Amino acid sequence: MKKVFKLFLCLSFLTIFFGFGDFSEKKSTHFIIYYKDIPEDFLDDVLEYSERYYDELTEKLGFRRFNYWTWDNRAKIYIFEDKETYEKEMNQPAWAGGSASYVDKTIWTFPQESGFFDTLLPHEIGHIVFREVVGAHRNIPLWLEEGVAQYLEQAKRIGAEKHVLSAMSEGAFIPFKELMEINGLTLRSRDDVKVYYAEASSLVNYLIQKYGVDSFNNFCSKLKDGKTFDNAISYAYFYIRNSSDLGEAWEQYLKDKLKIKDKMVL
Ligand SMILES: [Zn+2]
Repeated sequence: MKKVFKLFLCLSFLTIFFGFGDFSEKKSTHFIIYYKDIPEDFLDDVLEYSERYYDELTEKLGFRRFNYWTWDNRAKIYIFEDKETYEKEMNQPAWAGGSASYVDKTIWTFPQESGFFDTLLPHEIGHIVFREVVGAHRNIPLWLEEGVAQYLEQAKRIGAEKHVLSAMSEGAFIPFKELMEINGLTLRSRDDVKVYYAEASSLVNYLIQKYGVDSFNNFCSKLKDGKTFDNAISYAYFYIRNSSDLGEAWEQYLKDKLKIKDKMVL
């Protein structure tokens, strides 16, 4: 058993607190799990999947060079015993299944019946990997962070576009301009969080599928160099000069898809 007393800075909501009491720990090459009352086979699966995502994320997003997460540099995963304890200790909204801090390279979560291994884990590891690539840049829109984090959630990625197209035809679509303004705090008070996440996923998917992983990697490294969003995107993408160009192109792409979909229904 190990007592954990540490100051945490939570990426999205700046939650500051001290320790949670006694946690046991279990280690793999790149991860350390801290846990309470969690079955051993669940912990083994968490470590196995985390190691797999660690490799896949860097590969699929074209992020090849980042600090290796070994020894003292390992990522930490705190697993609370249940949802209630997690929400109480972490001060998180009821819809959140986990949270991550790139500063501490730490994930906080709890065992969940569905989506833990194929959704939550790649999502939260994705947040940390992405921030290692772009650094502590202040002007990164939240949709970019969330879209990248979702990129490895394969099932969701495929479903995301369907969800966005439905939102569009039902008048629930969040325009790109508004999407750019949403941050961690304003997102909490919205009741269209699902549409927001689907659009974030669709946008990152659009950038990578249409223009390739190398351009995306280029874009991220320009952000890391301290360039603004507009400068970084115009540098990496020949036809996109700024965020409104990106918004127009993506919305047009969706409208074209919607037309095809409507024709198919007819
Ligand atoms: Zn997220």
